[in-house]
Amino acid sequence: MSKKTILVAGGGGFIGGHLVQEFLKQGHDVRSVDIKPYEEWYQVHDGAENVIADLQEKEACYAACDGMQEIYQLAADMGGMGFIENNKALCMLSVLINVHMTLAARDCGSEKYFYSSSACVYNADKQKSEDVVPLKEEDAYPAMPEDGYGWEKLFSERMCRHFREDFGMYCRVARFHNVYGPEGTWEGGREKAPAAICRKVIHAKHTGDHTIEIWGDGHQTRSFMYIDDCIKGIQDITNSDILEPINLGSDELTTINGLVDMVEEIAGIKLERTHNLDAPKGVNGRNSDNTMIQDRLGWAPGIKLRDGMELTYNWIEAEYLAKYGSKTQA
Ligand code: NAD
Repeated sequence: MSKKTILVAGGGGFIGGHLVQEFLKQGHDVRSVDIKPYEEWYQVHDGAENVIADLQEKEACYAACDGMQEIYQLAADMGGMGFIENNKALCMLSVLINVHMTLAARDCGSEKYFYSSSACVYNADKQKSEDVVPLKEEDAYPAMPEDGYGWEKLFSERMCRHFREDFGMYCRVARFHNVYGPEGTWEGGREKAPAAICRKVIHAKHTGDHTIEIWGDGHQTRSFMYIDDCIKGIQDITNSDILEPINLGSDELTTINGLVDMVEEIAGIKLERTHNLDAPKGVNGRNSDNTMIQDRLGWAPGIKLRDGMELTYNWIEAEYLAKYGSKTQA
């Protein structure tokens, strides 16, 4: 494999941090750019050129893309449902990152541009039932995405399409379905369901307060993709001839209650549950239809939810104990 110059935008984030690690392992020259101070990056890899910059600014995007053969655009102001339902304007402002990054990638003559879209682009009408029909790529239209965050993602993936058609730019787009794993956010309001549930169970275990609050009635259905599968899929899609946005997610469906059962079993405890029906809970059901990615790329998730959750639980428990310690001898 020849050595390339690679930019990971949002490299201080969860998926970006893992992607930087993968490209360094492959021997590439990697530039990692994020707006956060280094102390808040989930991973800072010494082998990369690490840069703090606000990629909503056009000049910062041009500086970041300068000399880069491949660009992976993962920077976004985002989080789990608790964040995106309450911060729609902030989510939509990520459009500035995407407009400026796409322009900069075009003008700096990058060879490949990857954009991370989301399952939140899918039409809400197709996600009303917990008894889901998995979402196919064509289900994004007619458009009725998640308000705020999903509209921005749909606009930005559409922009990639037109930069490809009108300017001949090499753009590839994946629609991620819930990604989870170690080295991600697990507290503070931006965490997603797998990390939030792990944290709540770990907190219960180490404080002796054996209760847990679940957002919604817990019957909502979802699929969750382990980070290693995501990193492999990003590269497969970027190097493919698939021009339109494609699903990148697991099709192993679970309910949120089922996910709590799983984490309780990993922790070896049973908790008393309450359900907060007013909390943000997103659509009732969502799963990824993987027909296209399986047929075209032979990609399928390799890590079962139970295995990935155990790895994630163990990492979050170590982080929790380092920060808060344990009040019990569990
Ligand atoms: P993340 O929040 O951990 O990473 C995003 C990073 O972008 C953060 O580190 C953040 O500081 C950075 N960022 C935000 N604004 C910036 C700016 N103006 N300039 C520079 N950096 C900025 O999120 P993640 O889970 O790693 O997600 C990466 C991408 O994948 C995002 O675009 C997200 O929308 C998309 N996505 C993620 C999931 C998921 O389940 N994690 C699902 C669907 C889509």
